[in-house]
Amino acid sequence: MDLDDTLINRGRAVTAWVADFTADQRLSPEAAQTLTEALRERARPETFADLRAALGLVESAEELWSNYLIGMAANAVCESGTLARLDLLRAEGWSVGVLTNGPTDIQRAKLAAAGILDHVDAVCISEDVGARKPESEAFRIAASRCGFALPADAWMVGDNPVTDIAGAGAAGLRTIWISAGRGWSVPGPPPDHIAETAVDAADFLLGLPEMSR
Ligand SMILES: [Mg+2]
Repeated sequence: MDLDDTLINRGRAVTAWVADFTADQRLSPEAAQTLTEALRERARPETFADLRAALGLVESAEELWSNYLIGMAANAVCESGTLARLDLLRAEGWSVGVLTNGPTDIQRAKLAAAGILDHVDAVCISEDVGARKPESEAFRIAASRCGFALPADAWMVGDNPVTDIAGAGAAGLRTIWISAGRGWSVPGPPPDHIAETAVDAADFLLGLPEMSR
């Protein structure tokens, strides 16, 4: 399973952090907009070196990254029922792993804060394992950490049509796209299933007949 905007709502956490940071630093609405746009898709320590220069911030890039990491972890929350579904999947015999792109420090902080680490069999963070989705190698490593080799009867659950769905499909996994209410409008093969949330995706997997798992 993907982490950001699949198991946790990253978009909402970014919005909350930008609001807190903007208030603390007494920044303008335009600066808040700049922060939101810079952090929308992904953020790395280097992102804050750029933002520091663009917004004239006093703190070092390292201090800003640390502030962001702590704030994002504080706002990393799973939708109600998500962790219980992970437990149910494992009780039904599934191995559940998280495969996420991003820096190890912040992804691990979010996983810990959201309580996910105690409910999965394996965690793969791109910076840590040296492969990023959509590379097949990332999926191979995640499968291996879950205790099996690809190709296998494995599913990927994620919100990103390219990194999660196309990447997993190319690696031989079946796919569930987390739509959050969006329609699928991407060229290329569609996901095997569309679910609005991670809870809905887990319920779909729990309802599969044994033979199609
Ligand atoms: Mg995601």
